[in-house]
Amino acid sequence: MPPGRWLVPVAAGGKPAPALGPFGGSVAFAAASTEAGPARRRVVVLGATGSIGVSCLDVIAHLGDRLQAVGLSAHSSGDALLEQARRCQPRWITLTDPEAARRCDRAALDGCELLVGADGIQKMVTHPDVDVVVTAIVGAAGLHGTWAALEAGKTVAVANKETLVMAGPLVMDLAQRQGGRLLPVDSEHSAVFQALASGRASEVARVVLTGSGGPFRGKTTAQLANVTVDEALRHPTWRMGPKITVDSATLMNKALEIIEARWLFGLPAEKIEVIIHPESVIHSFVEFTDGSVLAQLSPPDMRLPIQYALTWPERVSGPTRRLDWRELSCWRFEQPDRETFPALDLGHEVARRGGTCGAVLNAANEAAVGRFLNGSLRFLDIARVCRAVLDQHNYSARPTLSELTAVDAWARQEADRWTH
Ligand code: NAD
Ligand code: MG
Repeated sequence: MPPGRWLVPVAAGGKPAPALGPFGGSVAFAAASTEAGPARRRVVVLGATGSIGVSCLDVIAHLGDRLQAVGLSAHSSGDALLEQARRCQPRWITLTDPEAARRCDRAALDGCELLVGADGIQKMVTHPDVDVVVTAIVGAAGLHGTWAALEAGKTVAVANKETLVMAGPLVMDLAQRQGGRLLPVDSEHSAVFQALASGRASEVARVVLTGSGGPFRGKTTAQLANVTVDEALRHPTWRMGPKITVDSATLMNKALEIIEARWLFGLPAEKIEVIIHPESVIHSFVEFTDGSVLAQLSPPDMRLPIQYALTWPERVSGPTRRLDWRELSCWRFEQPDRETFPALDLGHEVARRGGTCGAVLNAANEAAVGRFLNGSLRFLDIARVCRAVLDQHNYSARPTLSELTAVDAWARQEADRWTH
């Protein structure tokens, strides 16, 4: 491949070609430049109105010569989605909530097609004119769009970690079979993905995921007994949607990321560790068998990992601020407090056991976080509920997708029954 040319994924004569890079399915990359310049990558953004979705559209706006938003989805925020459609001029928008679609002002569509529900997502992510799908829907609701895109052999930039937590082995297998590819958007996994390019999978001694420690770093269990929703939503370094912000406060986010790394990179659970790094500048590191450690560093801004997933394997100048090396003073590291934040151990355990555990943990956590946010569960009970539901469940080692959907529903019901 000539260096410096714009590359887009294409199936190699319908047959799988050798994978580029260590992870993902078999995709050949062919130059798609024309005399007029490089072809623009056509992007569908699922969950466009959320924190990741908005950052993603900002990246696309800055890189308009390379990227084009052709489809956007939101659940019920019809006005916000219409405003995004006015600015980006996509071909389709989808509102997954039919009631929101009914209320939508069709006169404001301006040539763009309004689609509704899961069928709308399906139509957008499988369309032959789409190159990349960004999955930025929150929670298990993101599984369907990721699955449909991979079934169609698309490249998926995956922010929705819950999909991998719930069904990692099935999702990775689907990507492999259909010639699709998963590229990480989560900042830690993007860092690991970049560091892994320096060696072979067999040369990885360990992967260390960094975490800020969240708003309650340094607190004791007693101090966390009565924390409020507002306090849990005050994250020190990242501005994110409410669910992942609460996950960051319990450290469940890091637990989910251990499981995400386990499946995305095919690493044994024992090789994945976590360290607290409050400044959120070092986004993770990989230690190789010779003792060399490679890390990826940048200011905490999700637009950079999003951009890397969208322009991969190329690097281009984008909208994010750079590290100012003259202003750096010190970076801190601490071991996580596993007693105060027991969610973290659930991540290691579930990554080790696999099977139905990921779907159960994810669903119990989603239900518990929902209840904490609506005031019907205390902060410390989130991890307790997850532990109890996980312990009660009927483990199965090789579940099908429909079995995972069933245990997801069961775990939510169990979590909703919890009282202290
Ligand atoms: P968010 O709450 O800000 O946005 C969620 C988006 O999903 C919105 O567009 C919403 O309309 C849509 N949505 C919500 N419920 C839906 C449903 N039932 N069906 C279809 N669409 C639905 O969330 P976020 O912070 O942007 O996070 C999105 C995903 O990215 C999560 O999986 C999160 O773990 C992951 N992630 C986020 C960040 C971050 O910085 N925000 C970083 C890493 C990973
Ligand atoms: Mg992360």
